[in-house]
Amino acid sequence: MERTKFVLDQKQMPTRWYNILPDLPQPLPPVLHPGTGKPVTPDDLKRLFPMALIMQEFSPESYIEIPEEIQAIYRMWRPTPLNRAYRLEKALGTPARIFYKYEGVSPAGSHKPNTAVAQAYYNKKEGVKRLATETGAGQWGSALAMGCMMFGLELKVYMVKVSYNQKPYRRIMMETWGAKCVPSPSMDTQSGRAVLAKDPDSAGSLGLAISEAVEDAVTHDDTHYSLGSVLNHVLLHQTIVGQEAMKQMEMAGHYPDIIVGCVGGGSNFAGVYLPFLRDKIKGGKKNLRIIAVEAQACPHLTKGVYAYDFGDMAGLTPLLQMYTLGHTFVPPPVHAGGLRYHGMAPIVSHCYKLGLIEAKAEFQVPVFEAGVKFARAEGIIPAPESAHAIKVGIDEALACKESGQTKNILIALSGHGHFDMSAYNEYLTGKLADYAYPEEKVKEAQASLPKVPA
Ligand SMILES: *Cc1c(COP(=O)(O)O)cnc(C)c1O
Repeated sequence: MERTKFVLDQKQMPTRWYNILPDLPQPLPPVLHPGTGKPVTPDDLKRLFPMALIMQEFSPESYIEIPEEIQAIYRMWRPTPLNRAYRLEKALGTPARIFYKYEGVSPAGSHKPNTAVAQAYYNKKEGVKRLATETGAGQWGSALAMGCMMFGLELKVYMVKVSYNQKPYRRIMMETWGAKCVPSPSMDTQSGRAVLAKDPDSAGSLGLAISEAVEDAVTHDDTHYSLGSVLNHVLLHQTIVGQEAMKQMEMAGHYPDIIVGCVGGGSNFAGVYLPFLRDKIKGGKKNLRIIAVEAQACPHLTKGVYAYDFGDMAGLTPLLQMYTLGHTFVPPPVHAGGLRYHGMAPIVSHCYKLGLIEAKAEFQVPVFEAGVKFARAEGIIPAPESAHAIKVGIDEALACKESGQTKNILIALSGHGHFDMSAYNEYLTGKLADYAYPEEKVKEAQASLPKVPA
């Protein structure tokens, strides 16, 4: 009997997060204070984040122990499964071995709870009562709502108004877990009121929602801000996924030749590849290919510039050196909402700059085609974001069919698509369209990159 599913026992769940920082062949460029142009200090960040997370952001340690309270919550759905996609291989007629690591089994349906739970824990431990955050389509808001519920923290989520009105189910999830979710722009903050005064029908934007959440945090003594991707500590928390996948690939008796993952801010992809990248940098795995897949509508790595930019669209955060389309860039409304971020995690950007990883950009129609192909072979209906990784995984498997090579392909399957049925419906009824790369808009946005003092 062929083994389809590689399951780890609870006792085999990793008990440490892996920190790539000390293993990078060149150090990560510093985060800069937008006012002074000097590297930020932990003090600059403590109004927004708990000290434990700030320390993780800059940690020189290779491994960081996962507190038992966090492990206990992780164990409710972790270790997550790693499957061999026999049926997909057969459907493609490829000699390649395709594996996927599936994060859709978490209560929120994606990898995001891995950091949401950790962030809620450290805030609670430092006496914070309440968190504020923003959410676009609601994936991050719902994950953090679950995390805050676990540790008895209040949560206020500023949800971009169009999504709030068009996609009520993620909001209802947040409310079910006890969070308060308001449409952004809201009357609850200065920035929200200012926009509503000018335009009462404003549809909102992620940039505005971030401004509201940050303002909420800095104007309430008991409140911190929380971010679901991009920052080093978020990527760190996701490394539990790749460490599990390593053990599971070992159980399967194979080592990946290719790892593919989709990138919005970069956290699920980094979570899977960083532990393997250690082998590529330090061990004998020089030929391991690691491929980031982005949306053509938001091609940060393939068409962006490597420069200092704000992490948010409102220009409130410290400056991060990253591949960016410009913080004022508003991507076209593609269905993979989680991939519509203007920048890319500094760690992922740095790896790309150093040539340690590759990048590809894909259009949404072939991505949905791949998602449906996957669903019809493996059963799981992938999130539109994850379907980007599947698209490139399938392309690589078909290249193996051409060349006759038996490569091992590991796909990061970041979540399920159960809240994206209207997008699948558009695809299935032939109404889904591709967006061309918005070159003019990117040029415009890149003209407004912040000037960094030399
Ligand atoms: C949010 C999300 C993403 C994109 O975010 P990353 O930080 O790049 O991982 C990808 N897949 C799913 C299912 C998501 O919810």
